[in-house]
Amino acid sequence: MVDLSPKDLSVVLPVHNEADSLRELLSRLLQVFKDSDQSYEVIFVDDGSTDGSWEVMKELNAQSHHVRVIRFKKNCGESAALEAGFKAARGDIVVAMDADLQSDPRDIPRLLQKLQEYDVVWGLRAERKDEWLRRLVSWGGNTVRRILMGDNARDAGSPLRAMRREVAQKVKIFKGLHRFYPTLCRMEGFTVIEIPISHFPRKYGASKYTIINRFFEYLVDLLVVKWMHNRHIDYEIVEELDER
Ligand code: UDP
Ligand code: MG
Repeated sequence: MVDLSPKDLSVVLPVHNEADSLRELLSRLLQVFKDSDQSYEVIFVDDGSTDGSWEVMKELNAQSHHVRVIRFKKNCGESAALEAGFKAARGDIVVAMDADLQSDPRDIPRLLQKLQEYDVVWGLRAERKDEWLRRLVSWGGNTVRRILMGDNARDAGSPLRAMRREVAQKVKIFKGLHRFYPTLCRMEGFTVIEIPISHFPRKYGASKYTIINRFFEYLVDLLVVKWMHNRHIDYEIVEELDER
């Protein structure tokens, strides 16, 4: 068992209609932390589910004192769910993870280890298990973003990432901009590294995004983030004299 960081940890999971995955996901997460001294919390954010996810979340909350649950009035999007989870997080380290079992909680300790050197550790789906067209569109989007923004992150839409608490608190996200999170982190001066993680096909339910809606939104977001990137205020004070 890898020695986890002694700091407190919050795992944030945005949930929109993932009822069938949640029990298995929590049991896998608890398994990872079982033998460690790590104090941790698991925060499920129900983003307007209609499939009974909230009932399962309440059941998990009653079962484990590690589990906190938050419920939105209606579906507000993944970015909003992440932001609500980040705000609620009490840990010094925040891990954000999709709730669909497409990534493996056993990768978390490796991310945490790397967090000792970097502010943000981004999971790279080295062997992504989504259909080819989705992978192709995602590859195109990532490539354009990297060229325009000079980014090092090859998989900005990763389902598993870890960051120091100040990152989660400082980096402001807007609807859809969770896909540009590594860029936004770098703009705020945080260091970002990417490490390979495992990836699995969706076991239950379906992706919440279609290629078409994601593609057009992404184009607009790309222009907005490029503008923000160009206009970002970046300065270093070399000297300052105060009144005596
Ligand atoms: N999600 C959410 N609100 C939404 C859309 C998605 O909370 O409006 C959650 C979803 O339940 C999952 C994560 O965000 O935990 C990623 O969504 P999905 O797996 O559908 O995206 P994909 O992996 O297909 O890119
Ligand atoms: Mg997914």
